[in-house]
Amino acid sequence: PITMNDPVQVQQICVAVRKRPLNKKENTRKEVDVVTVPNKEHIVVHEPKLKVDLTKYLENQVFRYDYAFDESSDNDLVYKFTAKPLVQTIFEGGMATCFAYGQTGSGKTHTMGGDFLGKSQDCTKGIYALAAKDVFRFLNSAKYQSEDLIVTSSFFEIYSGKVFDLLNNKSKLRVLEDGKQQVQVVGLQENLVECVDDVLKLIQHGNSVRTSGQTSANQHSSRSHAVFQIILKKRMTGRLHGKFSLIDLAGNERGADTSSANRQTRMEGAEINKSLLALKECIRALGHKGAHLPFRASKLTQVLRDSFIGENSRTCMIAMISPGLSSCEHSLNTLRYADRVK
Ligand code: ADP
Ligand code: MG
Repeated sequence: PITMNDPVQVQQICVAVRKRPLNKKENTRKEVDVVTVPNKEHIVVHEPKLKVDLTKYLENQVFRYDYAFDESSDNDLVYKFTAKPLVQTIFEGGMATCFAYGQTGSGKTHTMGGDFLGKSQDCTKGIYALAAKDVFRFLNSAKYQSEDLIVTSSFFEIYSGKVFDLLNNKSKLRVLEDGKQQVQVVGLQENLVECVDDVLKLIQHGNSVRTSGQTSANQHSSRSHAVFQIILKKRMTGRLHGKFSLIDLAGNERGADTSSANRQTRMEGAEINKSLLALKECIRALGHKGAHLPFRASKLTQVLRDSFIGENSRTCMIAMISPGLSSCEHSLNTLRYADRVK
């Protein structure tokens, strides 16, 4: 296990990678682990070059990020260095986003929403829940009690460019831009939450709605972005104080479905591709003043627009990596994407 010091200062953009362990299935078929995390900021992919040069069987591709987490890291550790520093941001009146990026099966939902245990999901160990816990800790602290803030929460899904409310029976919602360039998801449920348990109930409910009616848990959810939000408001005026959006992105390999024989799949793939490209540009723009913000290029970036503008907007991306040889190409794609975000 890697020992790490506490984060010294909160960066505007933080990029982390997380390698998951080989799972049972992969172990059974003797899948080779081609990814190593030699230290707390590097990750290495040992890419087979068999076809190119037999004498040089493996070529190491080395990537460096703010943080690299190996397979022994748990959600608590990942949380501590990625989303946790952003809780402060929303209490200071800022906007925060945390994205889980990666191919289907790489650990996005495990990290953000929590794990499936049999049929039910234990959401208490996911980053959604860990962040909620800290939000209430801050809210009740001496420093912020006098701010008189309330907390609300919403949870929705973006599928094929359409928004569905996970806290209201997956009802389809319209997105409107008013004259003042404010983007609004019309009718999105925003539930008042007064303690961590209230939030856990919403997460549990949203998660079950998200995965209901699927023959395989990964089928639909791998093609949709899930957005869980914790919102701070002034009690007296209802004015927005800060917002934390935690996003379990669609599987990035789905963006390549554009050559599928199925028209629906092709269109969904194109939409995912578009949204992930726009997301990369919007995050980059955070770090470059005056950069073009292509938020209208996708529903995802449009809905998150207010989180990408403003002085006090911060984001972190956690790129998830499956360690197996058969995932090598997707892992490299993920690492290259994460490399270009900053
Ligand atoms: P994704 O949401 O990216 O498609 P999941 O989060 O569903 O992937 O993970 C796929 C499987 O791998 C799940 O069974 C999950 O429990 C397991 N898994 C993912 N990350 C880890 C981890 N860090 N440690 C142990 N198991 C993990
Ligand atoms: Mg998932």
